[in-house]
Amino acid sequence: MQFFRMRSPEYSSTHQDLFINGNLEHVYRFPGVSCLACRTTYGGSRILSDPAPQQILNDKRFKSRWPVSDEEHAAMQKEIAGYLNKEFVSFVTFRPGDNFQPAYLSIPAKPTADFLWPNIRSFVVSERMKKMVFEELSGTVDIVPIELRKVGKPKPNVAADTASRESSTMGRSRLESLDSDESVGPYYQILVRAESDYPKGGLPLSTCSVCKREYIEEEKRELIMKEDMWRGQPIFFLKTTLYVVVTEALAEKIRKAHATNVDFVPY
Ligand SMILES: [Zn+2]
Repeated sequence: MQFFRMRSPEYSSTHQDLFINGNLEHVYRFPGVSCLACRTTYGGSRILSDPAPQQILNDKRFKSRWPVSDEEHAAMQKEIAGYLNKEFVSFVTFRPGDNFQPAYLSIPAKPTADFLWPNIRSFVVSERMKKMVFEELSGTVDIVPIELRKVGKPKPNVAADTASRESSTMGRSRLESLDSDESVGPYYQILVRAESDYPKGGLPLSTCSVCKREYIEEEKRELIMKEDMWRGQPIFFLKTTLYVVVTEALAEKIRKAHATNVDFVPY
């Protein structure tokens, strides 16, 4: 059986990358943790499909990545589980660095591609792609709309604006019209939930009993998707990585839909 890593095409520069894909940001999150048990300070980048609960919208504790103690972190997890009315297992349901919805996309020009790659933990798709491909994968992926925050470059400040008025009138009016353009179709984050089994050499040597962090020998992993690691889903992360892997059937379906700004690299 053939698997493919699904990823962005190669770009000629980070400027081009940013121009096409923009930047996806989440405002509310869990902080990192300083775990006493495993003596490690860290935070991940996972994206939750849960919206930030109303109760934390003015709460600075949930806007910072700055690490807190494992005890304090566990208490914050419990607090959020209460607001969301959710069953929770300490350091499993929520992890250090987890991001809440909503997500805001800032992008220099009106997005046109079917796939956008504005964040290492999720990709974004057009309405067309959502309907043709991803809706029927619900259960394996979560689909969450994004908010377009900023289309166009940030506006110059007033002084710079006046000084450059003559020279850049054309440029400015073009950006302003993009700003007020409401014809950009909806886009959606695709949050991949499934994982493969551990890759060869990637089995954790130990797991912290408090924060559940797994310790692996990263350099010993063979980052290759093999059939015996497959758990049956059409799309998933290669476990211990942020690589999105798809089956041949799903890759074919996306290709046949003539999706733009996406590449498939065979394993
Ligand atoms: Zn720990």
